[in-house]
Amino acid sequence: MITYCSSCGSKTERRVVARQSLSVCPSCERIFFRNPKVVVTALIEDQGRVLLVLRDIEPGRGLWGLPGGYVDWDEHPEAALARECLEETGAVVEPENLVGVQHVVLGDEGIVILAYRARLTGGELEARDEVQEIGWFTPDALPPLAFTSHRRILQGWSKQVLARGAA
Ligand SMILES: [Zn+2]
Repeated sequence: MITYCSSCGSKTERRVVARQSLSVCPSCERIFFRNPKVVVTALIEDQGRVLLVLRDIEPGRGLWGLPGGYVDWDEHPEAALARECLEETGAVVEPENLVGVQHVVLGDEGIVILAYRARLTGGELEARDEVQEIGWFTPDALPPLAFTSHRRILQGWSKQVLARGAA
């Protein structure tokens, strides 16, 4: 919750607005609405394998996940996706289609996760920012994952890869 008004500096108070308990400034009447943060995550496939990162930051340090991260306030999610992939793995990617939209509540924060399929178009792959290691994995040999949200995306992807193999 916001304790001091960022417009006028007065101490805020709790009020129920639109059925939510929110911080409101009694001096200037500014209402501090609470909105979810937006995270993008990339499903990068090459020859039936997916690119994953071994996380070096919490949450999920020491576990694997899809590359991605928070969208900046003035940034298109697709631009954020390309930026995060480059920062974490050195991969130059082109965002393709959206494969899923998820909503998770983590502590007192709501997060909207946009999962995109992304095509690898270049770059030098290596572990970079906030990542211990990167690796390519097949559906039958996925490593321990940090997040249920990523597991769901990878389950959907695994089914597609296995169906392709069987066809
Ligand atoms: Zn105020």
